[in-house]
Amino acid sequence: MSTVMKFGGTSVADAAAFQSVARIVAAAREASPVVVVSAMSGVTDSLLAATNTAVQHNVDDAIASLQETFRRHHAAARELLPETAAREFVDHVDNIAHQVASLLRSINTASNPKASQDAIVSFGEALSSALLAGVLNDRGIAAQPVDARRCIITDDEYTCAAPLLDETFTRTQDELHPCLEANVVPVLGGFIGATANGTTTTLGRGGSDYTAALIGAALGASEIQIWTDVTGVLTADPRVVPEAQTIERLSYSEAAELAYFGAKVLHPKTIQPAIESSIPVRICNSRAPQERGTLVGPETETSPRTVKAIAHKSGVTTVQISSARMLGAYGFLRALFEVFDRHRTVVDVVTTSEVSVSLSLDDAGRLPQIVAELEQLGTVRVERGRAIVCVVGEGLRGTPGIAAKVFSTISDINVSLISQGASSINFTFAIEEERVNEAVKRLHQAFFGHEKAQRSTQKS
Ligand code: ADP
Ligand code: ASP
Ligand code: MG
Repeated sequence: MSTVMKFGGTSVADAAAFQSVARIVAAAREASPVVVVSAMSGVTDSLLAATNTAVQHNVDDAIASLQETFRRHHAAARELLPETAAREFVDHVDNIAHQVASLLRSINTASNPKASQDAIVSFGEALSSALLAGVLNDRGIAAQPVDARRCIITDDEYTCAAPLLDETFTRTQDELHPCLEANVVPVLGGFIGATANGTTTTLGRGGSDYTAALIGAALGASEIQIWTDVTGVLTADPRVVPEAQTIERLSYSEAAELAYFGAKVLHPKTIQPAIESSIPVRICNSRAPQERGTLVGPETETSPRTVKAIAHKSGVTTVQISSARMLGAYGFLRALFEVFDRHRTVVDVVTTSEVSVSLSLDDAGRLPQIVAELEQLGTVRVERGRAIVCVVGEGLRGTPGIAAKVFSTISDINVSLISQGASSINFTFAIEEERVNEAVKRLHQAFFGHEKAQRSTQKS
């Protein structure tokens, strides 16, 4: 059985990071690794920015803006590979730079600019996977770059394509089994796929985790490892709560809720393929590989702390639709959700009262059209600049007092859209975006502060 090892952008940020990845893969050699890698950190952002510049301003500026991106690849290759291999890779980078330039030049006349954008951003992962395979081979680990577009087959929803599972599983097995049988490590770029007729697509930002999970499910892997720049899933976002601690174990449902409500360390879709094939997911730190990180699995153990983590996401819009027509009428909710369906807009949290429905949206791109249609159903109120906070733990099921503790901790902050998810392992609500960091810090202190104090007393 194989182990899927996915390395994120910061794990391949520069030559030193590639070296660490090679050491981590070498140490896992016995576990038949399949490596999935993201673009070098910042590369997807630069390719997307160049695409926007080409569409909105000037193609020459767009092309010029990518010089530094390609130079970073040159520099990493020269540091990592022997002279001839480095020269070949530099030529490969230059060839890709030409392909990107010609895609940028034609984007404004392209029949589907989103498809061109996917083709452009896919080069980030194409380059990092080719370089990593070269580095592994140079370190004596037989490795083969595999074009992920031959494995991950998707629909044609460019920029956020959905995989066609049967096709993806068969193609992945066909592509990867020969490598694994020959004891060669396949190295694939994450995030990218292709339609059945071979046009490049991408799975959405942060989608390399999802690629790893799909490959793991297709191969029936023994473990899916997500290697990143922090030690596992932490009790809160470490950028807001620097003292957040690693959580040793999470159930699939807990991890899915956290990922969905903003814990960027896992792409929200990562858990589903793992659940279906009962594959454990481990989140590890590529800068501290000896640390155990977090193990996500089917066990639904209740931790003595009850609350395991607090996730949050900003940039949320809430929408409230009020209508007396709701009273005792059927068909109203269907009509309402059909509006979101027609505009392909995902609804996150929903609460209802007798005469109103409130919901939250991550992506408000189609809001004007949505509001126009909703106004035919009732009075619509939109609030932008909101954030969702989500308190997660299997122990929430049947533990009294959690909501009281949350509300008393942030009693001076106005809370709306309060919901305890159907799985009863999360408690979610919306607040003003400006106060979200303060709220998360205070909640973390309330739920985890005493543990830190206990630990430091034990140490002294
Ligand atoms: P990668 O490039 O490896 O995919 P990401 O930047 O996508 O890495 O995800 C890792 C980052 O997620 C961490 O550096 C951290 O800032 C952020 N993060 C947010 N919430 C959490 C959390 N609860 N636990 C761990 N990391 C989190
Ligand atoms: N490179 C892609 C991104 O930055 C995918 C990923 O890193 O997971 O979104
Ligand atoms: Mg990520």
